[in-house]
Amino acid sequence: MKSETKTCQNCKNKFTIEPEDFDFYNKINVPTPTFCPECRLIRRFAWRNQYFLYPRECDRCGKAMISVFSKDTGLTVYCPPCWWSDKWDGMEYGVDFDPKKLFLVQLRKLLQRVPVMNRFCLYAGLVNSEYTNMVSYLKNCYLVSHSDHNENCAYSAFITHTNDSYDSLMVDKCELCYECVNCRRCFNAFFSIDCQDCHDIGFSRNCIGCSHCFGCTNLRNKQYHVFNKPYSKEEYEEKIRELQPKTLTARRKIQEHVEKLWNKFPQKYMHERKNTNVSGDYIYNSKNARDSYIIADCENCRFCSIVSPGGLKDCYDFTHYTGGELFYEGLQIGDQASRIFFSWFVLSGVREVEYSMFIIGGSNIFGSVGLKKREYCILNKQYPKEEFEILREQIIDQMNTKPYKDKQGNVYRYGEFFPIELSPFGYNETTAYEHFPIAQEEAKVRGYNWKPLRERDYKVTKKSSDLPETIEEVNDSITGEVISCEHEGRCDDQCSTAFKVIPQELQFYRRMSLPVPHLCPNCRYAKRIMWRNPAKLYKRKCQCAGTRSENNLYQNTIVHQHHGSNHCSNEFETTYALGRKEIVYCEKCYQQEVV
Ligand SMILES: [Zn+2]
Ligand SMILES: [Zn+2]
Ligand SMILES: [Zn+2]
Ligand SMILES: [Zn+2]
Repeated sequence: MKSETKTCQNCKNKFTIEPEDFDFYNKINVPTPTFCPECRLIRRFAWRNQYFLYPRECDRCGKAMISVFSKDTGLTVYCPPCWWSDKWDGMEYGVDFDPKKLFLVQLRKLLQRVPVMNRFCLYAGLVNSEYTNMVSYLKNCYLVSHSDHNENCAYSAFITHTNDSYDSLMVDKCELCYECVNCRRCFNAFFSIDCQDCHDIGFSRNCIGCSHCFGCTNLRNKQYHVFNKPYSKEEYEEKIRELQPKTLTARRKIQEHVEKLWNKFPQKYMHERKNTNVSGDYIYNSKNARDSYIIADCENCRFCSIVSPGGLKDCYDFTHYTGGELFYEGLQIGDQASRIFFSWFVLSGVREVEYSMFIIGGSNIFGSVGLKKREYCILNKQYPKEEFEILREQIIDQMNTKPYKDKQGNVYRYGEFFPIELSPFGYNETTAYEHFPIAQEEAKVRGYNWKPLRERDYKVTKKSSDLPETIEEVNDSITGEVISCEHEGRCDDQCSTAFKVIPQELQFYRRMSLPVPHLCPNCRYAKRIMWRNPAKLYKRKCQCAGTRSENNLYQNTIVHQHHGSNHCSNEFETTYALGRKEIVYCEKCYQQEVV
């Protein structure tokens, strides 16, 4: 089959369906997409609230709890013991398919009635870690999301096997880290990104196997370096005493200085490790995985994102979690699942599920919500196998002849994920906003939900500008204060306007000699995610101009064999947008400079 160029229903941009894409769609017997890959990604992301948590009660036992579903969603929300218990059954909510009403409308009504779980996590394995979401095996963690196997961590996301770390993103097997992004096996690391196997480092980027380095970039197995220059141990220690910022003002100055330094060195066009034939960013241990983002252990996948290690095969347009094969247009799916299409939160050995949500175990489920170990169900009603198949065909037929139409005029025939406007989350609560932010007015025009910022009823007892400069001057009473966020809600970071310092956090700041932050956790998070490249690919050319970088800031250390003193002609797709300050090199040029 030849490739085909289509126009995206949603953004009107052109996109191409390639021969191997057709093979996949034929294999699972679905029509070709009508939204472009990016619009499909945004559509799934808009159903994923990783970060925002709200206090509320369990609608069954009445216990106070926190939830990703705020009260104004109107959903029935159960606490974990209630949701996982067998005291209720999704089948009690079963309804007949009404051919006179749109199928997606009937399904959305079902979601409004059937109990959902308050937050996405395994009930087991959580010790003193209530303010968390999309997690397992946590101990003494606070405001941690999409993370597993951590202890004494807070204000962090995408962290695994990590202890005693705060304000970090995408860190694995780390300890005593603060404000680190995309770091692995690091110990005692501050304000560092893309580092691996390092200890006692600060303000460093893309260093591997280093220790006692400050403000360094692209170093390999080095010690006692400051701003990429070597020093003796004694000199280093003296320098550090002078440079290590004790106050926020000093830190901001250092950060500014270091960022300029970082940008004088080339970065590889993508973050990756141990792959064959991949494209996208943050791709690990994968094979034939293209146009994907933050994935591990994937094979023959395309347009996938946020896939944890565990093994994924033959999947397209899949976001979050792992374990299984033949997923298409799915979100939060895994644990040995197979053939799951157009669905959200489907787990545990499930097979053949379409247009369903909150399905645990079972097989042959269509248009259902909140079922455990059921089969041949449609709209939460069970049918004999033959009737199930006939009714499924009938619904697909209706979806194709009388499709759901969203407020912008996009039509949703069989083969599309759920429309954004049906998401129970405000667009600004979701991963979609994180990667593809839009203003509230724009969201309104498009018909998306928007979550109003939480009532600002905080009684600020301490202005952040009145906080002591250093941690030594802070006393224990700080944990009783409501501190104003420096942004005071004037930013686009979902600022909560005020925040508290929890006792374990104060201990951490003291142990690490860190000043108390002036920004609320939401604003800190928004700043941090700027250090993770976005889920968007740009076509670019290698910036190696032969003997130096295009912008003249970096002088190559050796002659690049493949092009001598000519400009490198390599092109690639990268998440470093054009106009970014980093120097971006292709794999070959990068490898000649950074060994
Ligand atoms: Zn589009
Ligand atoms: Zn704030
Ligand atoms: Zn190059
Ligand atoms: Zn080159």
